[in-house]
Amino acid sequence: MGHGDRRRALAQRVEDEGLDAFLVVNAESSDRANLFYLTGFSGSFGLLWVGKEAWLATDSRYTEQASAQAAPLPIEELNGRWLTWLGERLADTSARRVGVSAASLTVKILNDLRAHAKNIEFVPTGSWVEELRQTKDGSEVEQIAAAAELTDAGLRWILGRIRPGMTEQEIALELEFWCRKNGAQDMAFEPIVASGPHSSRPHHRPGSREVREGEVILFDIGVRRDAYCADLTRVVSLGRPEPRVQEIYEFVLKANQAGIEAVHAGVEGASVDAGARKIIEDAGYGTHFGHGLGHGVGLEVHEMPRVGPTSEDVLGPGMVVTIEPGVYLPEQFGVRIEDLVVVRPDGCEVLSGFPKDDLLVL
Ligand code: ZN
Ligand code: ZN
Repeated sequence: MGHGDRRRALAQRVEDEGLDAFLVVNAESSDRANLFYLTGFSGSFGLLWVGKEAWLATDSRYTEQASAQAAPLPIEELNGRWLTWLGERLADTSARRVGVSAASLTVKILNDLRAHAKNIEFVPTGSWVEELRQTKDGSEVEQIAAAAELTDAGLRWILGRIRPGMTEQEIALELEFWCRKNGAQDMAFEPIVASGPHSSRPHHRPGSREVREGEVILFDIGVRRDAYCADLTRVVSLGRPEPRVQEIYEFVLKANQAGIEAVHAGVEGASVDAGARKIIEDAGYGTHFGHGLGHGVGLEVHEMPRVGPTSEDVLGPGMVVTIEPGVYLPEQFGVRIEDLVVVRPDGCEVLSGFPKDDLLVL
């Protein structure tokens, strides 16, 4: 699906909902992914208008880049303060009710828009662009698969270099350096490298703790490649693991597999979560699995749909989600196994290739 098709799908939604246009504002990092999705333009400032006509405005830092990336969309160059420019640009438009994304626009920008374009009623809408973004086309799935493959390779590489005494931060930095040297634009999020008792904190930030023999290390990592993110979690043991780690690993793996088996087009997020959660509950660790089973991944590492206990989001073909059950024992250790999958009509395809069948012992 080309960018023009995406804008047409949005324009249709705008019309169906009784609005005249939709404004995407990428300023101060709002609407960044939405603007890229609808235009292909990756600069850090841009205004996209989608209505009877469509145009993209940016300033002189980006006009050349915008022309190259967003053609054939008309590009307008603004100067001075963008809010003043926009107020003048819209002064004689016939559009009256204009949608903006409630999910990504800040209240400050919304207030500024209202103050500068008084002839327009700005209407915060549901996640219309984010909803379009949930369903990936073939080339988006390929890009996510390539990001997942590079993430697998990064993990394989760093695991070959880990020695007792290295710090979490050192491991995270070396991993990032390797990934960026080997084709990653960036990391999709700050890598989580959590050793020993730190692994019981689901979003631990790597620090100065040294990894030790006989402890687990939890990696939750993903690269951004060609704008698309990957997300992978594996737990390894440095030397012989405690028997309890092994035991928990086995049923977290079963929960991960049950989650993957439950994924198919038409299923609700809550039902996929329930299948995996039951295995952890039956093992007696239900209260140690506090987060949802998974989330959508694409231009952002956390996007729609949600796969959690209360999620009414219905999975459809082409959606890419994570399946990541975990069990966390405070002050002791945590185990999470996370894979990236793409929903197919009758099931799903797993994009993460890093082995998981046994707890890897380094
Ligand atoms: Zn993750
Ligand atoms: Zn995740």
